[in-house]
Amino acid sequence: MVKNRYELIQKLEAEHRLSAEEYQTILDERDDALTKAAAQRAEELCRKTYGNQVFIRGLIEVSNYCKNNCYYCGIRCGNQKAERYRLTGEEILDSCEAGWQLGFRTFVLQGGEDPWYRGTHAGRVTELVKKIKKAYPQCAVTLSLGEYEEADYQAFRAAGADRYLLRHETADAVHYGKLHPAELNLEHRKQCLYTLKKLGFQTGSGFMVGSPGQTNAHLAKDLVFLQELQPEMVGIGPFIPHQDTPLGDQAAGSVELTLFLVSLIRIMLPHALIPATTALGTLMESGREKAMLCGANVIMPNLSPTDVRKKYTLYDNKLCTGDEAAESLRHLTERMAAIGREVVCARGDFT
Ligand code: SAH
Repeated sequence: MVKNRYELIQKLEAEHRLSAEEYQTILDERDDALTKAAAQRAEELCRKTYGNQVFIRGLIEVSNYCKNNCYYCGIRCGNQKAERYRLTGEEILDSCEAGWQLGFRTFVLQGGEDPWYRGTHAGRVTELVKKIKKAYPQCAVTLSLGEYEEADYQAFRAAGADRYLLRHETADAVHYGKLHPAELNLEHRKQCLYTLKKLGFQTGSGFMVGSPGQTNAHLAKDLVFLQELQPEMVGIGPFIPHQDTPLGDQAAGSVELTLFLVSLIRIMLPHALIPATTALGTLMESGREKAMLCGANVIMPNLSPTDVRKKYTLYDNKLCTGDEAAESLRHLTERMAAIGREVVCARGDFT
């Protein structure tokens, strides 16, 4: 018998997997009542594993140089207007120190695919990780620097990197091709994710919601891919156009759909670490709280030196001040307390 959408959500909770068709039914038949029901289940499941804790990660945007030319991204190499910067090792360590003082116990090093850190220079990442782990042995180091060879990932891991974030962006190969130039492909991206898992990284994947040309069938594939990969972390956020990119005139993704997908991902992966992303906060003032109420449990405030924050513009109006800034942790803590959540100073590993 064909199950209705509520039964499908129950099935997802019981079995943690559905078929692509089943996910698509849920997405096609989404309405306010279903959205509410899913959010309630998601938040309950999150509390079951992690209580009311919200983990914080200090995000350090190490470089906006990028060899890639993704059609949606403001720091694509083809964007001549982007003002490029690369933090020095010292600046990165200073950011970690500032984060440590504020109570951060995870540092996330994110950046474009900067040739400075790649190929024969991948050892620079290894050196950096070693220095951070030596200075802050109790802290987790997360890397989010794009696609590398297995040997490089292995060296990063051996140097002490604990986690790696690499969104798959979209799990449909044709759709992937509409968002990326021909040199990049979904198969390789997925391969990187399986390699990261194999090497023992807590691995994060995810996708943009509402990227141009995306359908519910594509999103269903994204969810099926996540259930296959079993990532420890999942970051999703609405697509937001950047004016100096080929997709700059496209509409932004929906906050509501993003929140619904956060709920579904929490029900699928009850132990996952799921951030309330900056993109969500950019499109909606209360986006972070709303995401928490759909089962998110991580926030990643910006720890980059203030003078470079504006330059890491993946999309227009990207938040980097106010409660997005690591310095506003107290205010963020109060906002979380108002919805019954406690921001904790802990590594916040996958459990
Ligand atoms: N070079 C790294 C980091 C990329 S930036 C990597 O390849 O993983 C981090 C994330 O920002 C991307 O994975 C993408 O999902 C998101 N992003 C980039 N441009 C965006 C846009 N215009 N709207 C919303 N999210 C975007």
